[in-house]
Amino acid sequence: MTVTKKQVQFISGAASSHWVGDGFPVRTLLPARRGVDVSPFLMLDYAGPANFEPAERPRGVEEHPHRGFETVTIAYQGSVDHRDSGGNAGTVHPGDVQWMTAASGVVHEEKHGREFTANGGTFEMVQLWVNLPAKDKMSPPKYQGIESAGIPNVKLDGESYGRVIAGNLNGVAGAASTFTPVNVFDLRLVAGTTSEISIPEGHNASVVLLRGDITLGDDKDLAGEALIAQLSTDGAGVSIRANADSIVLLLSGEPLREPVASYGPFVMNTEAELRQAFEDYRAGRMGRLG
Ligand code: MN
Repeated sequence: MTVTKKQVQFISGAASSHWVGDGFPVRTLLPARRGVDVSPFLMLDYAGPANFEPAERPRGVEEHPHRGFETVTIAYQGSVDHRDSGGNAGTVHPGDVQWMTAASGVVHEEKHGREFTANGGTFEMVQLWVNLPAKDKMSPPKYQGIESAGIPNVKLDGESYGRVIAGNLNGVAGAASTFTPVNVFDLRLVAGTTSEISIPEGHNASVVLLRGDITLGDDKDLAGEALIAQLSTDGAGVSIRANADSIVLLLSGEPLREPVASYGPFVMNTEAELRQAFEDYRAGRMGRLG
């Protein structure tokens, strides 16, 4: 019996582009369309690639809160400095991933790295927001600073490979721990190869083409940059043919099937919980930057 593959529901470009602070010119790829359930994912912003001239002060986003979900920062080029109310601080270098569980509340700032600021250059980063199940939204914050060397590589077809940031890629477990089943794969695909990727039945899944030229299944083509294909929840796995060298981010996860009430940096289940989040932030109950 052959396993049915996931079907491509639609292919889309960025839903919007805007600046986040003065450091991150982003294209929003998730949600790609209104009304499409991509749970447990909430948002994917693709920053750059953009060139920055050398500067005196780091560009970025000043102190702000989050509650109820996780922010995942994947650095491709350039670096991000981070500092939060939990006392975590560090630089996310190219290849590194920062998996921050805001949960009950974190206040943080996100800036270009010092060296990158001084030297300038090309900046390219993804920030993904992963929702938490209701039962974990008010759990203590958590921080996973994952260095490139700690992310397992899985060989795919030919010279293609996948970096397993989270989940399980063809039998290899990822670096990050997650609250619900989530796969985040950084795929580096070489022209002329066709890689088979397993994705569980029932997962929502998206294939994000940062740049390159790929064909999903037999005939769904994505070519260029900053494109996303939404896959069906039904079916298991997808085959990706690379028509040119390509950088692809593959996301999948078990849908949470819980109500979402969100406003800005807070993602809860009810309006009352959102009001509480604002109140707690204003009262300093999410902590402060040291
Ligand atoms: Mn933030």
